[in-house]
Amino acid sequence: MSDLTGKTALVTGGSRGIGAATAERLARDGADVALTYARSAGKAQAVARNVEAAGRRALAVHADAADPAATAGAVERTVAELGRLDILVNNAGILLGGPLADLALQDVDRIIAVNQRAALLGAQAAGPHLGKGGRIINVGSIAAHWFPGPMSVLYGMTKSALSGLTKGLAREFGPRGTTVNLVEPGPVETDMMDVVGPDHLPPLPTLALGRYGTPGEVAALIAFLAGEEAAFITGATITIDGGLTL
Ligand code: NDP
Repeated sequence: MSDLTGKTALVTGGSRGIGAATAERLARDGADVALTYARSAGKAQAVARNVEAAGRRALAVHADAADPAATAGAVERTVAELGRLDILVNNAGILLGGPLADLALQDVDRIIAVNQRAALLGAQAAGPHLGKGGRIINVGSIAAHWFPGPMSVLYGMTKSALSGLTKGLAREFGPRGTTVNLVEPGPVETDMMDVVGPDHLPPLPTLALGRYGTPGEVAALIAFLAGEEAAFITGATITIDGGLTL
């Protein structure tokens, strides 16, 4: 476990899946936790209660990452209500896809706004609050560089953008002692798997470990990167995919 006592984290998209597991894990490791949600208010409140059950302060903020002001607003509410911000986890994400010819402009704009722009704007808002020991952890995907078939152009494009964002921010924030890293999960058992659909999930034998990941396993990696022991890791891309892309 990382000792995050005295730290405050903001996890975007913390109402379900990897974000929910991360919010709860960071709280168990000692951090106060704010989390954002777009649609799942009840689930976000349940995660906040779990954070409080771990003995930490919690804040659930409605902030649709497609709105350019929303993530920055969540940063400011975190600082105003929890007193500080040390760890930003840019986790909120959506999966949209299909043949290129069928992509609607509004879908293109929405996925870029949620998966890509919100991470940039969240980091911009968080920047003034982050100093020595500060952390930004972006949640990308192996889909940034693993294309097993057609129809993954749009999602893969947005996730590969996080690589440039992570490296650029690592340079910018490094001198102040804040690290910026990118976690790229493979298939993880969340609601997003239903969006992918059983026909498009990689068969289990194609993963070296023969199984999909759990949200808690990704949360554990994020918690490690958030902790003091990861202080010399920055600008890194860390794959967590059960050996799918070997
Ligand atoms: P889920 O679909 O299970 O959860 C998505 C989370 O993001 C929810 O809390 C949802 O909140 C939130 N969210 C979605 N849209 C918005 C929005 N516009 N504004 C704010 N919050 C939003 O997904 P996962 O937990 O699986 O995915 C989390 C991250 O991990 C994503 O970035 C995803 O791309 C990435 N990832 C997931 C993989 C997987 O196999 N599961 C593999 C690789 C990467 P709400 O319900 O309130 O809308």
